[in-house]
Amino acid sequence: MSSRNCEFCKIQSGEYNTEFLFEDHRVVAFKDINPQAPVHILIIPRDHFDSLKQINDEALIGHLFTAAKTVAEKLGLTDHRLVINTGPQAGQSVFHLHLHLLGGRYLGWPPG
Ligand code: 5GP
Ligand code: ZN
Repeated sequence: MSSRNCEFCKIQSGEYNTEFLFEDHRVVAFKDINPQAPVHILIIPRDHFDSLKQINDEALIGHLFTAAKTVAEKLGLTDHRLVINTGPQAGQSVFHLHLHLLGGRYLGWPPG
């Protein structure tokens, strides 16, 4: 279930030889190209979903969070933030579901 013109589908397929901080048969994690914090990792399902609105697979949703937790532990991040932007109004710019894992600095609240 990949979308032909989706960059994240291409990343997960290995087309760009992206370094994965975590990967298994359902998800991959890689560094954000434009980091907003010292640690900024994206965790994505291998299958294409435009956003959180399109996914109903609870096991996969849970797996994404577990993978993010594994990456945070691997990087020694005790404090961190997970973000899912859904829709342009909320800042979504890539329409392949992804979790942002942010950390390594003080993170203010509320976000902008
Ligand atoms: P969004 O704004 O959709 O929540 O997040 C999309 C994120 O993907 C942004 O933080 C952006 O920097 C990142 N991004 C966009 N294109 C690429 C890419 O080709 N490679 C990587 N590693 N990150 C990307
Ligand atoms: Zn995709």
